[in-house]
Amino acid sequence: MARIAVIGAGMGGLAFAAAMRNSRHEVSVYEQANELTELGAGISLWANGTRLFDEMGIAFPMAERSCETEAAYFRNEDGSVAACQRLARDNWYRNEYGYPYYGAFRTDLQSALLDVVGRETIRLGKQLTRLDDTGDEVTLYWADGTLASADLVVGADGIRSVVRQTVSDDGRPVFTGNSAFRGLAKTAVLDRLPEPHSFTDWMGDGMHVLNFPVGKDFAYQTIVVFMDGPEKWEHDAWRVPADAAAIGKKFAHWHPAVGQLLEHVNLAERWGMFQVSPMTSWHRGRAVLIGDAAHGMMPHHGQGAISSFEDAVALAHVINNDALSSVHAKLDAFELERKARAERIQKSSRSVNDCLHLPEGAARMERNLILNALGKHFSWLHSYKIGV
Ligand SMILES: Cc1cc2nc3c(=O)[nH]c(=O)nc-3n(C[C@H](O)[C@H](O)[C@H](O)COP(=O)(O)OP(=O)(O)OC[C@H]3O[C@@H](n4cnc5c(N)ncnc54)[C@H](O)[C@@H]3O)c2cc1C
Repeated sequence: MARIAVIGAGMGGLAFAAAMRNSRHEVSVYEQANELTELGAGISLWANGTRLFDEMGIAFPMAERSCETEAAYFRNEDGSVAACQRLARDNWYRNEYGYPYYGAFRTDLQSALLDVVGRETIRLGKQLTRLDDTGDEVTLYWADGTLASADLVVGADGIRSVVRQTVSDDGRPVFTGNSAFRGLAKTAVLDRLPEPHSFTDWMGDGMHVLNFPVGKDFAYQTIVVFMDGPEKWEHDAWRVPADAAAIGKKFAHWHPAVGQLLEHVNLAERWGMFQVSPMTSWHRGRAVLIGDAAHGMMPHHGQGAISSFEDAVALAHVINNDALSSVHAKLDAFELERKARAERIQKSSRSVNDCLHLPEGAARMERNLILNALGKHFSWLHSYKIGV
């Protein structure tokens, strides 16, 4: 039996602990926060994520608490439809991929995972400051002055990972030149929305507004405003104050539903968007990275958390596979399965940003042809099955 220390009780860390719940290995999850709170309201869960829910033990609660969105609409500033892809409508998405698309609350996802893992097992208030890999074991140093030891460390500590400093000389968070503003509203108050049971990207030059239903009975809409800029991020903080009136003005001539959506977005708080630069390897010695620590990405495919689930389940498979005898062999097999795919998603998410922000012109027509055939162009994303 190995002692496995997971750093971070975010999406990836909890998913890994859930996938390991029946393993003979001893898994301990350490989280820097003193209590577990989830930032951001809603989350899109595509079939490559929901197909893992049985293995993570959360299929039933998530089916109970989510909605199956009817379609994905792509609209121009004036509301005209540029493209549309069926999802639950005619059961298209389940027929195509075998699993549902869910719009869910992050808190529901987190509490489903915590019910599987056991809240009492998360060690809160444990901020990792550094680790020391002696070859035989790893010593973990906490900010409160205490130590722990482990045979394997899983760095699920997000985009500003401390574990990554041990694993990689080249991985670091890089500002993408884009920012976002977030909101949440009851669907019932958004009476201008043309398709409240569908996911909609309202696309303009250099910006877009996304709304998608979340929770049982489509009760709420998650709303995110994405914008190109600023060119540089001159702050340590992820979230900084913004001029709400100036941001709001940029959407003055858009469809009235967008104006109504914006009433529920905090335009005074700008989120910087970062991604992690590619690394030579995701593991070194007895430490390995998963989730945003390994491949933090732009959110335009709605795949950041899902990629961390793919990592978590693939890592659980190799750790529980006795045919892979050494830690090194296990981590090599994990990296071979996951790294190229995650980097592909990361790159593709970046290019989706640019596609959704095109100025008027011929390029928009080409883009709309792709958006009308999402099943064809993005099947690789949604149909992935873990091969280890
Ligand atoms: C606007 C926006 C919308 C998004 N929408 C979607 C979506 O629809 N679908 C989707 O799949 N993804 C989405 N994502 C991405 C998703 O939120 C992330 O990819 C996901 O949360 C990453 O999970 P993680 O476990 O790797 O990191 P995190 O969830 O960030 O968790 C890291 C954890 O580690 C802890 N930690 C950090 N440092 C230390 C330390 N030194 N010691 C101990 N603990 C530590 C943190 O406190 C945190 O709890 C979106 C992201 C954004 C910004």
